Amino acid sequence: MIKAIGFIGLGFVLMELSGWLIHKYLMHGPLWMIHKTHHQPSKSFFELNDVFSILFGGIAVWLIFLGVENLDYRFWIGVGISLYGMLYFVLHDVLVHRRVRWFDSPKSGFLRGIFKAHQAHHRSRERDGAVSFGLFWVPKKYFRKEE
Ligand SMILES: [Zn+2]
Ligand SMILES: [Zn+2]
Repeated sequence: MIKAIGFIGLGFVLMELSGWLIHKYLMHGPLWMIHKTHHQPSKSFFELNDVFSILFGGIAVWLIFLGVENLDYRFWIGVGISLYGMLYFVLHDVLVHRRVRWFDSPKSGFLRGIFKAHQAHHRSRERDGAVSFGLFWVPKKYFRKEE
């Protein structure tokens, strides 16, 4: 059981770390053509940028598939990636971008910090010069109390 939780945590942390790297160096680099659909206003519900979510989801499904027979580490890492993906959807797509209107923008606390950090990321509509590429791993200043 401890092992399972460890690997779930590992999958989760790997997603934030690799997500940060991929976002900063690939999406705001050679893959900007795809990612820019998330930085510029669009009329449709789906963006080309959603292919990244499908890709990560696919990796999670694949790992779960490989590890399901023996419930080995691959299964649990896949579960960790899936949990991250679900949380990412709720925080990034619902809370920050309001693709579905489940709740209002957070007024205080931890969620407010996440919200402000990602809004700061979107202040840039260009490939270069954006800040705070993670979802959770963002500069501490966004979590300080607002005066
Ligand atoms: Zn971006
Ligand atoms: Zn965003």
